[in-house]
Amino acid sequence: MNNTYDFIVIGAGISACTFASFLNKRFSDASILLVEHGRRVGGRATTRKSRKNKNLEFDHGLPSISFSKHISKDILTVISPLIESKKLIDIANDILIINEFGEINKLSTNYKNYRCLPFMINFCEEILNQSINPKQIKFLFQTLIKSIKRINNLWEIKVNSESLIKSKNIILSSSLIAHPRCLENLQINYLPLRDACIQGEDMVVDSILMGIKKQDYIRRKIYIFHVHDCVVVQNFNHQYLQICFSKVLTDNLNFERIIFQRQTDGSIIITLHCYYLSDIIDIKSEKIIKSLISIFVNYKIFIDLFIHAKLIDKMYWRASQPLGNLLPRELQWSSISNIGFCGDWFDLDGCGGLERAMHSSIRLAKLINWN
Ligand SMILES: Cc1cc2nc3c(=O)[nH]c(=O)nc-3n(C[C@H](O)[C@H](O)[C@H](O)COP(=O)(O)OP(=O)(O)OC[C@H]3O[C@@H](n4cnc5c(N)ncnc54)[C@H](O)[C@@H]3O)c2cc1C
Repeated sequence: MNNTYDFIVIGAGISACTFASFLNKRFSDASILLVEHGRRVGGRATTRKSRKNKNLEFDHGLPSISFSKHISKDILTVISPLIESKKLIDIANDILIINEFGEINKLSTNYKNYRCLPFMINFCEEILNQSINPKQIKFLFQTLIKSIKRINNLWEIKVNSESLIKSKNIILSSSLIAHPRCLENLQINYLPLRDACIQGEDMVVDSILMGIKKQDYIRRKIYIFHVHDCVVVQNFNHQYLQICFSKVLTDNLNFERIIFQRQTDGSIIITLHCYYLSDIIDIKSEKIIKSLISIFVNYKIFIDLFIHAKLIDKMYWRASQPLGNLLPRELQWSSISNIGFCGDWFDLDGCGGLERAMHSSIRLAKLINWN
């Protein structure tokens, strides 16, 4: 493996992939390495393949790709060909809401909601496919960065215990190694970004570290159920259905939404998203089923599904979405340390998380000068 790159990007979620693709369109010869803790691209917009049952593949992170009315021209250039080729499909008719009286209605929203086909993870792949010189974008998966160093104007990262990778520019597409939560999550006793840059030498880095401390996160726990009873799944007519819970239900039960995803073998995966502003409470599977049956009491088709549902997995997202104190766009790039920042932790024109992630990455790719 070559060990020196023009850009090292930490992460390979939507922000990192959007950044890499747009930077590659501007500077097609710049070498870019995306270093990612996970096994694939996608980050929080990811897809899981069951290890036990190879037929099961489903989205268990971000459930829909949402864009506001004020979507930028640059984002439109990314998504328009995907909409035309039906890789991004409008799911307005597949998103419903259930209230505390057990009534189901169409969800009314100001956002356009899409799903990427066949899976959410393909969205990142499609973004990367739009780069013009893809061979300049490389990946290092299953690599967790706990420390970064800046030595003689070069960024150095130790990977896989011994080897060093270096670059002139570094991009953090995740706030993890700048936010104090990393001390507990990564079990370290220093803040990697603080450790890399001496206080007082770079105002942008100092301001990022000061601002990010105030950012909290929504935590989510996803309960994954499987229904394979033939009659029950045949009676269910949907390939995909997302039902949001009303605020009263979310406040009382922590249930945020429930998603039904048809599998290639005809069975159904049900993902229940639970939402927490503070500590996560674990709920027993029998209690979940009981609550769901009482909420959907007027709809036999759902009750039949819940009765036959078996809990097969759980996923815990400790920082699924930033909550308040988003950082100003002026802090996205420091030419003193050649460090850039992008992701949904930046405040850009009041749009939702995914749109902010893309918007900030495109903005950063345009800000940078490289030769
Ligand atoms: C269950 C769920 C529901 C959501 N619902 C909504 C919603 O309703 N509305 C909304 O606006 N947003 C929602 N989101 C948030 C949305 O998914 C994100 O805004 C979007 O995916 C952000 O993409 P990103 O690339 O900025 O970050 P990420 O997808 O988090 O990508 C960052 C990547 O960096 C990697 N990484 C981080 N630190 C390191 C390190 N030190 N070393 C190596 N790799 C590292 C991570 O593994 C990750 O893959 C939801 C997210 C989840 C999980």
